[in-house]
Amino acid sequence: MDFAEIRGRLATCWQGFLACFKKPGDTTDLGGRPAPSPGTNKLAQPSEPRPLPKPLPVEVRDYYVALYDYSARTGEDLSFNAGDTLEALNKSTDEWWFAKALTGISASKTGYIPANYVAPVESINAEPWYFPNTKRLDAEKMLLAEGNQQGAFLIRNCESQKGELSLSVLDDGKVKHYKLKKRENGHYFVSKTRTFQTLKELVNHYTVEADGLCSRLGEPCKKMEAPQTYGLSYNTADQWEIDRSSVQLLKKLGAGQFGEVFEGLWNHTTAVAVKTLKPGTMDPEDFLREAQIMKKLRHPKLIQLYAVCTLEEPIYIITELMNNGSLLEYLQKDKGSTLRIHDQIEMAAQVASGMAFLELQNYIHRDLAARNVLVGENNVCKVADFGLARVFMKENDNVYEAKEGTKFPVKWTAPEAIHDNKFTIKSDVWSFGILLYEIMTFGQMPYPGMTNYQVVQKLPMGYRMSCPPSCPKVLYETMMDCWKENEQERPTFETLQWKLEDYFDMDVTSYDDATRYH
Ligand code: ATP
Repeated sequence: MDFAEIRGRLATCWQGFLACFKKPGDTTDLGGRPAPSPGTNKLAQPSEPRPLPKPLPVEVRDYYVALYDYSARTGEDLSFNAGDTLEALNKSTDEWWFAKALTGISASKTGYIPANYVAPVESINAEPWYFPNTKRLDAEKMLLAEGNQQGAFLIRNCESQKGELSLSVLDDGKVKHYKLKKRENGHYFVSKTRTFQTLKELVNHYTVEADGLCSRLGEPCKKMEAPQTYGLSYNTADQWEIDRSSVQLLKKLGAGQFGEVFEGLWNHTTAVAVKTLKPGTMDPEDFLREAQIMKKLRHPKLIQLYAVCTLEEPIYIITELMNNGSLLEYLQKDKGSTLRIHDQIEMAAQVASGMAFLELQNYIHRDLAARNVLVGENNVCKVADFGLARVFMKENDNVYEAKEGTKFPVKWTAPEAIHDNKFTIKSDVWSFGILLYEIMTFGQMPYPGMTNYQVVQKLPMGYRMSCPPSCPKVLYETMMDCWKENEQERPTFETLQWKLEDYFDMDVTSYDDATRYH
């Protein structure tokens, strides 16, 4: 198949894909742009003059508060800062809305905004201290990060008890957690002696006085990083083939089997990573298949594909940029100088979370290893290159077989994949065990001192790596679970995720008591 044919097929698929999302009565075009207003259609004018419609009452207008700063990336989107008010004018696509800025740097201008950067005015989601989907560990990490002072706080969903909320407060360099309980009448309390109709009232009260908490509440916790937008802009969210001239390659970041990776700038505004495909090293169709898979799989712990340039070689694949490169390099560079066991487990939990999402989607990574995990700020880890190994494999029921002559990363590959070409999510779990070993040894080569051949020989005899120095026993047990010979006995990624996340005391007794300081 030649390039033009591949492009043609992709364009057809993409239009079909978009059409699936068009709801009945949706008057937007396929790119989600607003349709012309009904007033511009002469035939639609009523014959009898009608009274002008009344302006919408304020309470039904769609006002939002910005949760994060956003810098416009094209001439058609709006820059804004956290706290600005915006009115949504067209929300026909879920990911980018057409809006008018009512305050701030773009006041009275209209343009596109990423929908995940705003929350309805007056809603709890708009409160700067409300961090609903923040896990206890993340809350601690965020509160302990630079920029937060004594009393910094946030309110989050409680992990151990669904539907309940927790208050996390920074006190004297430590984070204390309180359960926020609810009375039958819906009033909230930390200590039974005082209840509040709303969370806002509760926060206001403890901002004025500690009243039993470890500290008076100070400023809301600083938000660490704005979330990824869906695609680079409202129009690339749908149309992922972009003009090559809109991408500048700035600095080479590394090279892999198939080409080089650069730090790049899209549209002179947005930092991206650009993976280039060496001409002739791989079938472009296979490469595009990887891109299609990545595009559909969106999760905070998976590298997001933004766009591709496939009209000429070298093909570019444009993804989010991760400032700290591969996890393998990150671990090796650090060698334990700043990363602590807490960080190592947290990084492993993030990888498990990305993999649990792939597991749910029935995708198999096939090449999970520290070299294929990328690291951003604050030890944020995301799984990359999922689907790339598929390029070398052919599908046969739910099992992928390696094409003849394919080289495996032997030390990461499960025995059944080596011997029977049987790649499943359970062979990914085996690889995850090896990745855990890499994390716990700061990027040491697995099976030190052994050749690939020796590993292949010894695994069926029950040989497994021993516990790395200073690796907690339970973590080693987790590795060993991943390396069970019978793949059905290996844990799921879902289990691995919660086990790792719960590693540091998750039980309810680890909460502080607001009456203790009375
Ligand atoms: P292989 O091609 O065998 O899978 P690899 O995974 O190391 O090897 P690439 O995926 O091409 O190869 O990446 C090469 C290097 O480029 C990585 O090791 C990493 O340092 C850097 N890199 C890749 N993607 C990104 C990204 N999105 N952000 C930042 N750096 C990246």
